[in-house]
Amino acid sequence: MLGVMILTAKVKLETSKEQFNALKHTLETTNRACDFLSEIAWQNKVFGRFGLQKIAYQPCRERFPALSSQLVVRAMAKVADAYKLDKKARHTFKPHGAISYDSRILNWNLTHKQVSIWTIIGRLKIGFAAGPRQMELLAGERGETDLCLIDGVFYLFVSCKIADVKPIDVQDVLGVDLGIVNLATDSDGERHGGAAIDKKRRIYAHRRRNLQRKGTRSAKRRLKQLAGRQARFQANTNHCISKHVVKKAQDTERSIALENLTGIRERVTVRKPQRARHANWAFHQLRTYIAYKADMAGIPVILVDPRNTSRACPKCGNIAKANRPNQSTFRCTACGHVANADVNAAENIRSRARAVVNQPMVANGVAKHDSATSLAL
Ligand SMILES: [Zn+2]
Repeated sequence: MLGVMILTAKVKLETSKEQFNALKHTLETTNRACDFLSEIAWQNKVFGRFGLQKIAYQPCRERFPALSSQLVVRAMAKVADAYKLDKKARHTFKPHGAISYDSRILNWNLTHKQVSIWTIIGRLKIGFAAGPRQMELLAGERGETDLCLIDGVFYLFVSCKIADVKPIDVQDVLGVDLGIVNLATDSDGERHGGAAIDKKRRIYAHRRRNLQRKGTRSAKRRLKQLAGRQARFQANTNHCISKHVVKKAQDTERSIALENLTGIRERVTVRKPQRARHANWAFHQLRTYIAYKADMAGIPVILVDPRNTSRACPKCGNIAKANRPNQSTFRCTACGHVANADVNAAENIRSRARAVVNQPMVANGVAKHDSATSLAL
């Protein structure tokens, strides 16, 4: 049994001016309908989707006759979701907040790279841009789709189920340790994305601090540009690293072992704002990329207990904080074993994964299933 993974494909709509205006008008009207529905929900203290449908569907159709019934249904779902998170205040909706489409109001033509999408002026056929990876995702089972307006461009975010892939026969495990200085270190001792990338990240951080200090309007604009550039750099870095790691595992017929995500947060001590940024931004993306690419290649991913992977000695089993005197060094206080700290952690991850897959129940793919489930987006 294999796990199912859900990933999001991002598709840029290539709108004409008329199409753009139609989509914008649709977005604005639907969000106004959300405000209208939200007011009814708030006044009547009816927050559930079906309760709301009962009392608000008809008034909403009458108030917004231009909206299709399906978009009214989607708007009610959006309002109900907002109240699911918080019932203490009346929710209002941004005019250009994302709205969701389903197959009744959105159809895909992958061959011609075109969608047929319902808008307030009728259905429109709009071309879209998508790279090979996005196309691969779209070819699978497609779920809900969000229409988003970002910096004057319309995008569709599509949740896609990844088709199951036949697992390869693995002979061993490649342990991979994710860190801040060395983004990924494997149990062979290879470091992926080291000094050069760290240097570039420092440059970005330095520029950001300078711009933040300035605080002018143009500095704010440049800060935003910088954030975009940095995000693309990060995504590209993680793409390259994950590709390399997965290729290596594939070529050497090994599965990949990673720590559970929580382990990284516990282990890496950085200042709080940095911690959030690192944990969410870099690690999560790299793990997701590795898991996704491994999944596509049929390589099992095994998640191991992250506790003390950086403090345990693989030779004698001694666990001590003092085993890691600094960021880069591991030195066992009991047996004197010395290694690079990240390589040492990767070795521990590998041996833990080997202990897991040696249990017969897990060997036939359950480990894979677990990892796929917990890494799904
Ligand atoms: Zn030792």
